[in-house]
Amino acid sequence: MNVVIIGCGAVGAAIAYELSLVKQLKITVIDKQPPAQASTGAALGVLMGIISHKVKGKAWRMRQTSIQRYESLIPELEKLTNHKISFNRQGILMLLTGNTNSPVADEEISQWQKLTAIRHTQGYQLEIWDTAKLQNLYPQVEDKNLIGAIYSPQDRQLDPTALTLALVAAAQNNGVTFKFGVNVLGITPPSQQGDICQQVETTEGNFTADWFVVAAGLGSSPLSAQLNQMVDIRPVLGQALQLRLGHSLGNPDFQPVITGNDVHIVPVGDGDYWVGATVEFPTNGSHEISPNTELLESVKQQAIAFCPDLAKATIVRTWSGLRPRPEGRPAPIIEKLSGFSNVLLATGHYRNGILLAPATAEAIREMIIAN
Ligand SMILES: Cc1cc2nc3c(=O)[nH]c(=O)nc-3n(C[C@H](O)[C@H](O)[C@H](O)COP(=O)(O)OP(=O)(O)OC[C@H]3O[C@@H](n4cnc5c(N)ncnc54)[C@H](O)[C@@H]3O)c2cc1C
Repeated sequence: MNVVIIGCGAVGAAIAYELSLVKQLKITVIDKQPPAQASTGAALGVLMGIISHKVKGKAWRMRQTSIQRYESLIPELEKLTNHKISFNRQGILMLLTGNTNSPVADEEISQWQKLTAIRHTQGYQLEIWDTAKLQNLYPQVEDKNLIGAIYSPQDRQLDPTALTLALVAAAQNNGVTFKFGVNVLGITPPSQQGDICQQVETTEGNFTADWFVVAAGLGSSPLSAQLNQMVDIRPVLGQALQLRLGHSLGNPDFQPVITGNDVHIVPVGDGDYWVGATVEFPTNGSHEISPNTELLESVKQQAIAFCPDLAKATIVRTWSGLRPRPEGRPAPIIEKLSGFSNVLLATGHYRNGILLAPATAEAIREMIIAN
């Protein structure tokens, strides 16, 4: 069976690798760019799984699947490719702000106690730290507005570009063909009655297949529109920056991701930290968003408020990317394109595409092998 995957961000690459482990599939991945550009190239790679508020249904199952799969996937890829993927196993530390002893703070802590109990029954740990414990274990955090913290030791962070390149290399090793710099112009609808597509048209000719997997992020909308089944995915801009401190914040042996008020501080080694990201929606119904420098500055200021040492750091890089967000429905979209039995959508992952890439790949594999 031939499978064409359109898009080689983290999601398309994860699908390619997972399908390459299934015998008798001939897989081609097409991307108009090199791998790991678009949203994946901008992502911070924070895997908010256990610390997320999702506790049941598909949203939790996908997180659980990904959390488990990453533990085996990273060593598997490192072995296959002989390349190290930076994978932070020191957990995520979420800082809670508010007024100590206020009813709101009490309510927030009680919500976390409930989540901690649920996670315990699911086999995961969450720890609720008061400010004294936080000061003791993580003295680099100094914000006076803190009411405590949640420590999630089994959550992870990884380098999304390194992950995607490793998935590509490993899939290639398993016989997958990659076509980079090739734009998919459209999927040809069936010429006769029926619901089976047979080929994609590209800038380098047509490719026939039995299955088409659309993992094109924001590019999925025009491809679905061209088949008259518009899946509306819109951009949400994120800006981030890399700060160079030259030494570790606090204890060099305990460098979890710090998160709070929707700002992540991600240790990336050698005293460098990624800080991000803004969440900027298009205005006036347009699809254009220009980065707002004030928003990036306020993200940086929030990071400094949490870890004052960061005020001494220099900015060595800033960047932005567009997250693919489904309009009017939950992320992600993993299903057959309505009206077509062999076009699968694996798209619209919005803020969690790196987290959910392995679970998406498993879901697509199941849809293909079940047929
Ligand atoms: C600043 C920022 C921070 C983020 N942080 C995190 C995080 O910490 N954790 C997390 O889980 N997620 C995070 N995300 C979200 C994450 O980046 C996305 O959800 C994820 O990358 C989506 O992956 P994807 O493969 O679906 O899409 P993309 O990475 O956008 O890839 C789509 C690919 O399809 C190709 N394509 C599109 N149309 C066509 C066509 N017609 N022909 C050929 N190729 C085509 C594009 O060239 C592109 O390579 C962040 C995003 C941003 C912007």
